[in-house]
Amino acid sequence: MSFDYDLFVIGGGSGGVRAGRVAAETGAKVALAEEYRMGGTCVIRGCVPKKLMVFASGYSERMDEAAKYGWDVTGGEFDWQKFWPHMRSELDRLEGIYRTNLGRPGTTIYDQRATIVDPHTVQLADGSRHTTKHILVATGGTPFKPAETPGIELAGTSNDVFLMEELPKSILIVGGGYIACEFACIFNGLGVATTQYYRGAQVLRGFDEEARGHIAELMQGRGVNLHVGTDVMAMEQRDGGIWVKASNGDQAVYDKVIYATGRTPNTQGLGLEEAGVKLGRGGKILVDDYSQTNIPSIFAVGDVTDRVNLTPVAIREGAAFVETVFKGNPTKVDHSNVASAIFTQPEYGAVGLTEEQAAEQEEIEVYCAAFRPMQNAFIGKEERVLFKLIVSKANRKILGAHIIADGAGELIQMVGVAVKMGATKEDFDATVAVHPTMSEEVVLMKTPTRTA
Ligand code: NDP
Repeated sequence: MSFDYDLFVIGGGSGGVRAGRVAAETGAKVALAEEYRMGGTCVIRGCVPKKLMVFASGYSERMDEAAKYGWDVTGGEFDWQKFWPHMRSELDRLEGIYRTNLGRPGTTIYDQRATIVDPHTVQLADGSRHTTKHILVATGGTPFKPAETPGIELAGTSNDVFLMEELPKSILIVGGGYIACEFACIFNGLGVATTQYYRGAQVLRGFDEEARGHIAELMQGRGVNLHVGTDVMAMEQRDGGIWVKASNGDQAVYDKVIYATGRTPNTQGLGLEEAGVKLGRGGKILVDDYSQTNIPSIFAVGDVTDRVNLTPVAIREGAAFVETVFKGNPTKVDHSNVASAIFTQPEYGAVGLTEEQAAEQEEIEVYCAAFRPMQNAFIGKEERVLFKLIVSKANRKILGAHIIADGAGELIQMVGVAVKMGATKEDFDATVAVHPTMSEEVVLMKTPTRTA
């Protein structure tokens, strides 16, 4: 049977674009449909604009430090009107690059929504139908807001932050995950009075407990008004802002409320159930190690499968799909020891297991150093960095590494290579320090802080 395409990709984000481009480079006839903007969450309303905002917001702290180092700095206000158009034009530029790279090997791009009609047919919003040998669903995720909270329609999500025409004077961030903590630090750094509510006992559930406590302390130290064990009871439009009643009894009016309470897979109305594709909890697409669904011609990669929801993982999954299906080389993605960073200020980089996970698995040694780096000590800044290694007693391998420091995202990428290679504590010990740096501590911790 002949088809219009060898591959039809639904979703122009990190995973879909990579798969579409690489498949087309093998000579396959490929189409990709995207209903919003090319580049997906990462480029348009996630990692990239977020990181630009992280850069922008970091300068306030730097200006204070510069003054203490002897610079004659006259700090000013942050001007969103200068930054925002620049950020948007940068996103336009990146979107153009994505589009060009995807189109170069001959991919047909449809700027409209696509839905699945049957295992080999896709329908576009204009009503046209296209047959295809394989379908790849790479539609990502979408922000979730708890519908039962009264007034929830007044609150925005991370999607709205990048479309704000004005910087609010005050903001409430709800949630305690990656996005909530990152945005709390960003707005705080930009000079916005920032409050954060998290319903649980400590932010960043699932991360190393010691590191969670450390990062929460530093966020508060820098000015984030963080309340744990606190949730929103109700919201109303009042006094030109949003009035919020909290479970701890607090009431206040904020210019903006942003919910960062998780993301759900983007599978609604795609025709997946009708085509017989099995979905899991929260609507995620269930796939095997090769990203194949229970329907042999339909595959899925990235956040829509809710495995490890990170851009570089989606890209790997997209590339592995092409290896498997178009290059005759069945390839699984190894989801173990994926390093990641939370771009709080300072940043938190982690790879491997937390102390709690490791201790549950086997006997461990924990090496931990929390100290004021030279750059902070000189100006009397109290903020401490944290370097932590979790080591297997049995085979001496580094099971986990956790770093909280400026630039921890960059540092954990390097440590991640060693951990992925299976480095032992003795390999770290044998590495000569780079002096004077704060990260030399990672090879200088000689005595375990504790064993478990
Ligand atoms: P997370 O799942 O990390 O966090 C969701 C937060 O919302 C949790 O603190 C959760 O609390 C809370 N929450 C959930 N439901 C409710 C509710 N009904 N009421 C109140 N609070 C609630 O999601 P994010 O949205 O922060 O991030 C989504 C994903 O995006 C991440 O998992 C990550 O994979 C990715 N990401 C990665 C980044 C990076 O690499 N730097 C940056 C941003 C996102 P509880 O803990 O109690 O469940």
